[in-house]
Parts: sequence; C-alpha cells; structure tokens
Amino acid sequence: MNEEKFKELKKNTPELIMFLKGMPKGGDLHNHSLGGGYAEIIYEEAIKNNDFYDLRTHKFLNKKEYKNSDKSEKIISIKLLEKNHIEDYFDNYSMRGLKNKKDGASHFFNTFTNVLSTKIKEEELILEILKRNQLENMSYVEMISDCVPTNLIEKFKASFDIDETFNLKKIQSYCKILGKNITKENMSKLNLFLDNREEFLKKNGIRDVEVGYMPYLRRMTCDLEVFFIEAYLFILSSCWDSRIVGVNVVEIEDSLGARRNFQGQLKILRYLYEYFNIMFPKKEINLSIHAGELTIERETLENMQDRIVSTIFLTRNKLKRKFPIAKRIGHGVSVQWETKETLEIMSEKKIPVEICLTSNEIVLGVSGKEHPFNLYKKYNVPMVICTDDEAVSRGNIVIEYLKAIERYDINYCELKCLIKNSLEYSFLEGESLYVDRNCEIFRSEFSGMKTIEELEKGIVANKNLILLNKKLKMQLELEKKILEFERNY
Ligand SMILES: [Zn+2]
Repeated sequence: MNEEKFKELKKNTPELIMFLKGMPKGGDLHNHSLGGGYAEIIYEEAIKNNDFYDLRTHKFLNKKEYKNSDKSEKIISIKLLEKNHIEDYFDNYSMRGLKNKKDGASHFFNTFTNVLSTKIKEEELILEILKRNQLENMSYVEMISDCVPTNLIEKFKASFDIDETFNLKKIQSYCKILGKNITKENMSKLNLFLDNREEFLKKNGIRDVEVGYMPYLRRMTCDLEVFFIEAYLFILSSCWDSRIVGVNVVEIEDSLGARRNFQGQLKILRYLYEYFNIMFPKKEINLSIHAGELTIERETLENMQDRIVSTIFLTRNKLKRKFPIAKRIGHGVSVQWETKETLEIMSEKKIPVEICLTSNEIVLGVSGKEHPFNLYKKYNVPMVICTDDEAVSRGNIVIEYLKAIERYDINYCELKCLIKNSLEYSFLEGESLYVDRNCEIFRSEFSGMKTIEELEKGIVANKNLILLNKKLKMQLELEKKILEFERNY
C-alpha cells in the first residue's frame, strides 16, 4: 500500500471499510464494558434473568422486583414484550432510539442504567467486546470496567468509620485508616477475582486479544468521601496486580455534583498519586481521565477555560503545575475554549487525547469541522482512536477509523501512526520499540529493520529483552502484522 493507492481506496467507502476491518489496528484505549454490549446480544441474557419489562422505565424486573413494584399494567411479561414492544427495547438500549428525542446525552446515559437492569454479568459483556475485537484484528483493549471486586470495596468502606464530615485537610490520617486494610488476605480477593475472569475468557476462546483493566471513579454520583475511598483502593489495586493497568475517572463533567467536587477530586487524586508513588516506587501509576467532554450549551466558559490543563496537572493552581500527572485525556472536545498553552503542553509532554468521534457526535452533537481533531493535529498532540461505548453508539473501532479518515483527510502514513499510537500510549508495561514516541524510529536493537524477516531475526536475537517488556513485544507483533497485511495490497 502506498499513498496513491490509499487515495484511490478512499473514494470507495465500502472498500475502505473492508480494508480497515482487515488491517491490524493495535489497541482500543477507551472502551467501557457497560457500553460495549449490543442490545441484540444482551437481550438473550436479560430474558434468562428476568420475567417482566416496564414500558415506563424500560427496565427489566425479576419476580421479586415485580412483587415489590406497583404492578402497573405497563409492566408486561417477556412474552408480550417480544410480541408487541420489542422495538421499545432496542430503542432504549442503544442510540437507535435517539431519532424521536432531542437530548442525546440523557438518552445515552440512560441506556447504562437500563443495561444494569438486565442483570447481565460483566464478564459476559467483556467476552462479547473481546470477541468483536478479534474479528476486527485488534490485539489489545484497555477496558474501563468493574474490575475491583465489590466485597473488597465494601471492606474498605466499612473500615472508614469517621465521626465527622469528610475533611480534605485530614487526608493523611484518612490514608492511615485505609492502610490497615492492605493485608495479603484482603488483596488476594482482587487477585482471585482477576484469575477467575482470566479463566472465563480463556475458556471461551479469547486468544488473540489481550485486555488491561481500568477501574473507574465516578465524579458525579458519589461524594468526596466515597470518591476518596475508591480512589485509594483503585490506585492501590493498580499497583498490586498488573492486570489492572490504570485508573479512569468517568461520568458527566457538567453535572452539579461533578462541578462542585471538581477541585476536591483533583486534590484527592494528586495526594494519592504522590502517596502511592512512595509506597510502590517501582510501579507506574497510570491515570486516564475523561476531560473536556463539554460544549458551550452544557457548560460555562469559566469552567471550560482550564478544564483539560487542570486535569493533566491535577490542579487548578498554575503555580503547582510542575509536571503532568494524568497520562491521557478522554475526549478533549472543549480544548478550543482553553489557551494554546494546553495544546502546547499536550504536544510537548506527549499527553495524548483519546478521540471518540461517534460518541462526541451522538452525545454532544459535535462532529465534522466543529470537532477539534484538526486543531490537535495542527499542534502535534498525539491522538489515539477509540470507541468509548461502541454498542450503545451502534459503532465499532472500524467505524471510528473510517470517520477519522473521511472527515479529516487522513493519509496512509498518518493512519499507521494513529494505529501505532494505540499501543505506544497504552498502559502496557515495559519499554517501547520506538525512540522518543516516534513510531518511525526503532530503538537501537531493531534499528533499520524494515522487513518481516529482519524483524524476526531481531526478535530471536533480543528474546530476553522482549520477555521483560510486554509493550515492546506487542509493538513488534503489530509491526510484523502490518507488513504481512500490506503484502496483499
Ligand atoms: Zn468514556
């Protein structure tokens, strides 16, 4: 494949889709397990776990929930749902149903509580997502998911028995209280939970795609005390078990709770980042934070003007911005309301933005030239292409690449760079194949290797180095796969 051929290919969308589906694409670094299950697939689990469906709330009910409900005639049996109302189900479990409504964001976020009512197990959703990624020739997914077991979270919460209103000034003593929970017995619950999940995925045929988990902190639906306890446990978990590769912060930024607690949440994360860096000096603490998923219709200029830059440094105080802490930013749609400095910092410090085009289009109504994609490109801010909530959005990673190529006139060289970025900026452990994050320059051991045969020789000669560095291993595999793929074009 060369630039000329790729230009021709771009004239034919179905052919481009076929090309992109087959192309090795590395990783998806922003994928929520709860948004990744297609309504069609979830349904089969929903009817195993439930007996009724409420047409008012679009939620499923089992017999016990029905008994405690108002038993309205709007609560119908599954049989009746299938006979007369199945479209209601599909419309409310994905963005398919947006056509009759104005508010994309509400419809989008409601789908998640609807999915929870099906009582589907999270591991089933993850299995579906990983199977789909195998079909799409992906090799890695960073999954934002409930990967810290509830019994461990409850244990930490129960131990935090303070007779006062949560006070950020006492965070040091609060850490001491929670620290008493760090025992082998407690933390083995985490290891066991992840062992079981790994076993389940292997048993169900997941071989070609790896997963790294990210527990998520809820900025909107929990107060500072719960945010602190969960942040403590989640960051600790990421230092404790390497299958947890980082921690994410999610939920709507322009909600009342998120707006009020923004600074407090930054302070908590900043403190814990430093605290666990001392406790686990050999571990990388990886934070990816949703930031700037905002528009002027939903947020004030005052709050948007430094949202992304404050998130990167975990402080609104300019004087304290010495080094970046958050390693990636999710969405970053409102960057144009900040100053050039934000873009320059992201470019210089190599803080990538996770681009989620379909999600931005349906939730925020931002697409085409209103999206800051080209602004990020102009400032050389690293970008990674992600799905966000692929099934709820009725999309997938192929569609995300397609939109980037068609809307922002991406050439073949840029496409390969976006693909390679998806492993380079992942939270995979170990050293990189590339020098200074430049996907075109290989480290000395592999310098100048341009063919599959050369790379294979390099891999044999550097076996020990590769064994120690998972990121390097996966990047070499991706380089080889791309070369193999290109032989067909
Ligand atoms: Zn997201």
